[in-house]
Amino acid sequence: MNDNTIGSLVPIYGIASPDLGCSCEHHAICGSLVHIDMLVRFKKMVVYSEGANRCVIGHVPEKLSEYFHRLEGRIAQVYTIYHLSKDSNRMAFSNKNDGVCHAILVDKGIAYR
Ligand SMILES: [Zn+2]
Repeated sequence: MNDNTIGSLVPIYGIASPDLGCSCEHHAICGSLVHIDMLVRFKKMVVYSEGANRCVIGHVPEKLSEYFHRLEGRIAQVYTIYHLSKDSNRMAFSNKNDGVCHAILVDKGIAYR
């Protein structure tokens, strides 16, 4: 991810973990809801699904902190889910980071309209 354009790919970590608030009264691990093509919204460095419960499903890695302000409130569509991959490198990366998916930005966000 190197700019604020639609189509940027944003990694989301922690989707297989209940940490960082990724657990609610309905789900032990809210990131377990993540599926290909679902829409998520970036909110204060974490990601909410757009379901009725507005679950926190994971977080954007700290190494991208310089982009957090550009992501606020924007909507992205889940593109890859690493732990569903047959690629052993992706599986290992996912395990190391408590579950990893990537989502593609599909709106410009309020700041850029
Ligand atoms: Zn939940």
